[in-house]
Amino acid sequence: MIRIEEICDKVRRNHPQADLNLLRRAYLFSAREHRGQKRASGESYLVHPLEVANILADMRLDAVSVSTGLLHDVVEDTLADASTIREYFGEEVAHLVEGLTKIAHISKLSREEQQAENVRKMLLAMVDDVRVVLVKLADRLHNMRTLEFLSLDKRRRIAQETMDIYAPIAHRLGMGKLRGELEDLAFKNLHPEDYRELTAQLEKRRAANEAFLNDITATIAEKMREADVPFTRIEGRVKRLYSIWKKLGAQEIDIDQVYDLIAARVITPNEIRHCYGALGVIHNAWKPVPGRFKDWIATPRDNLYQSLHTSVIGSKGQPFEVQIRTEQMHLIAEEGVAAHWKYKEGKRGPRDDDEALKVLRSLVEWTQEVKDSREFIDALKLDLYPKDVYAFTPMGKVIQLPRGATPVDFAYMIHSEVGNTCTGARVNGRMVPLRTMIQNGDVVEIVRSSNGHPSRDWLNFVVTSRARNRVRHWVADQQRTESIEIGRKLLEKEAGRFQLSIKKMLSDSNGDLKRISNEYGYGRTDDLLAAIGYGKIVPRNVLAKYLGPEKFEALDKQKESRLRTGVRAVKRLITGDDAIVVRGVEDLMVNRARCCNPLHGEQIIGYITRGKGVAVHTARCKNVKQLMVNPERIVAVEWASKPEKTAYAVKLLAVTENRTGMIAGITGAISDMKTGIRDARASVGPDQKGRIEVTVEVFDVKHLDKVMSSVKNVSGVLDVERLQGTA
Ligand code: MN
Repeated sequence: MIRIEEICDKVRRNHPQADLNLLRRAYLFSAREHRGQKRASGESYLVHPLEVANILADMRLDAVSVSTGLLHDVVEDTLADASTIREYFGEEVAHLVEGLTKIAHISKLSREEQQAENVRKMLLAMVDDVRVVLVKLADRLHNMRTLEFLSLDKRRRIAQETMDIYAPIAHRLGMGKLRGELEDLAFKNLHPEDYRELTAQLEKRRAANEAFLNDITATIAEKMREADVPFTRIEGRVKRLYSIWKKLGAQEIDIDQVYDLIAARVITPNEIRHCYGALGVIHNAWKPVPGRFKDWIATPRDNLYQSLHTSVIGSKGQPFEVQIRTEQMHLIAEEGVAAHWKYKEGKRGPRDDDEALKVLRSLVEWTQEVKDSREFIDALKLDLYPKDVYAFTPMGKVIQLPRGATPVDFAYMIHSEVGNTCTGARVNGRMVPLRTMIQNGDVVEIVRSSNGHPSRDWLNFVVTSRARNRVRHWVADQQRTESIEIGRKLLEKEAGRFQLSIKKMLSDSNGDLKRISNEYGYGRTDDLLAAIGYGKIVPRNVLAKYLGPEKFEALDKQKESRLRTGVRAVKRLITGDDAIVVRGVEDLMVNRARCCNPLHGEQIIGYITRGKGVAVHTARCKNVKQLMVNPERIVAVEWASKPEKTAYAVKLLAVTENRTGMIAGITGAISDMKTGIRDARASVGPDQKGRIEVTVEVFDVKHLDKVMSSVKNVSGVLDVERLQGTA
C-alpha cells in the first residue's frame, strides 16, 4: 500500500507552500471512516482512496484536490456527512466532495438512462469546479486498474460506462494519456478475446518494432542535427491497443497495414517554426505517403490538440507515422486540463468562440497571465452547458430541464398525468414550494394525490412549454366543463318553465338541440351548452328555436298566467331573485348568497358559480375577496329599479338589560312598523345581559334600517345588530 508520506512528498515537490497537514488529516479521517471496509480484492478499502490521491499527486494537482481524493468515497460509502467534511476540512474540500457525491448518482442510472451523450453533458453540467472531474477520473482509473476482482457482469458494465462516458470526458478535457489508459482497460474487459489476440500479435512483433523504432528515432535525431533544427527529444510509440482494434474493425485490414501502428514523436522547443522545420527534415529523409499529412497546428482539433502528423515509407518499405509538436503542445496533448498544474512557460493559444472550449482555452491562455491556481479554477468554471439542468427521480432516472425549471416542469417531463396530479415536491428529501428552482443534481420527488389538479397559478412560474401547455389545456378544459354544466342547468331551469325535460332534449344526439347548435355555429351540443354557461347565449332563445315560434309563444303566455295565479313551483324559481338584473345577460339563474343575504338597495356583485347560476353577494361580504381570484366569473349585477314587494328574512340580535318584558317591547316596536316577525327567541348571556334574536321580514335595506333604529329605541335595549345568514 502506498504510504501517505510518499503522497505528501509528491505534493510538496510540486507545491512547496501546500498544506500537508490537510492531507494528513484527510488521510486519518478517511482511514477511520473506512475502517473495516474491504475492497473486492480483499484489501483494506483505504487502498483505494490512497491510490486515487496518488494518481492526483502524480498529475501534480494541489493539496485540496489530493485531499478530496482521500475523502471522495467518505460521504457516499460511510456514515460521515457533508457537514462534517465542511467542519473538518473547510469549504473548498467540502465543495469538491459534494460535487463527487452528486455525480455518484450517475452510476446508479439504469442502462437506458445511460445515453452516453446525455450523461457526459449532465456530468459536466453538474460540476462547477474542474477538479471534481479530475478526481472522478482518477477514481475511475484506479477502479479500472483493479477491475479483475469483480464479477464478469460488473466488469462489463463498468468498462462500458468507462468507454461511453469517462474516456470521452477525458478526451474532451484534452487528457490524452488518461483517456488512452481508460480505453485500453475498458477494451480489455469488453472484448477479452480480441484483446488477448491483439496483445499476442503485438508481442510477436515487439522486438522487431522496438528495433525499428530505435532505428528511426536515431535517424531522425541525426537528420535534425544535420539540418540544424532544434528538438528537445524524440520518442517512439506503438499505437495503443484499443486504437489499433478500432482501426482493424473499421477498415477490415491486417495489423501490418495500419499506417500509424508505429510512430515517432518529435518534440521541439516552444516555437512553431521548429515543427515545420522538423517536417521538412522528415519529408527529405523519407518518402511521404500521399494524403497522410495533417496540420493540427494550423487547425487545432476541437480539444485543442495540436501536432503535425505525417506518414512516410521506411527504408525497407515499412510505413510509419511521425508526430511533431512543441513541448507545450505535447503537454496539452497528454494532460489536457491537468497540464495547468505543470505549466511553466508558453504562449497565448488560439482564440475560438466555441463556448464548450472555454476550459482548454483558459488553460492555454493561462500560460502567460494567470499565476494563481485559484484564478485558473475560477476561469474554468465548468459551465459548458449553461442552458441545461439535470435532475434525478428518486429511482435515478435523469430528467433534463432548462435552467430555472421547477418541480412542476419536472413532473410534466415525467408524464402529463404526474403533472396533473402533482400537489407538492420533495427536493433532496425536503418538502419545497412548487415554484422552487431545480438545481443540477437535485433528486426530485413529486408528491401526488388523486384529487390533485393543476392550478392557474403555476403558469406564473413554469418554464417548459410542455408544462405551460398542459396547465393551460387543463384550465381551459376545466372552464369548459364548468360552463357546460352551468349551461345545462340554466337550460334545464328554463326548459322547466316550459314543461320540457332537459334529459329528453339531450337524449337524441342528432335531434333538435344538435340542429340548433349548428345554427349557432357550433359542432356539438356541448358547445352550445358551454356557450349558454359562458352567458353568450340566452336559454330562452334556444327554447324558442326548439319549440318553434308558435308553440313557444303559446307556452310563454301560459307560463305568465301560471305565474300570476301563483303556481307555487314556478313562483319559487323567480320570486325575489327576479328583482336582480345581471348586466349584459338576461335570464340567468340568480341566487342570493346565504353568507351575506343581500337586501334590496345594498351594493352587490354577482359570481357565476359552478352549476348554481349567479350567486349575488353584498360587496362587503367577507367571501368576496376570495371570489376575486377568478375575476372572469364576476358579473355586474344590480337591483331592478322597481323594488318588488317581496320580503326577505333577516335575523337581528338585540342585546338588552336583563329584565322582563323585553321580548314584548321589541316585537311590539317591530309590529308597529308593520313588519312581519317570523321568529323571536330570548336567552341570557354569560354577561347577564339579555339576548333576543328576532327574524324579521323586510323589503329592502332602508326598511331594515328603520326597523333596527326603532328596536334600538325600545327602553332597555343596549345594542342591535344584523346577523349573517338567514333565519
Ligand atoms: Mn472511489
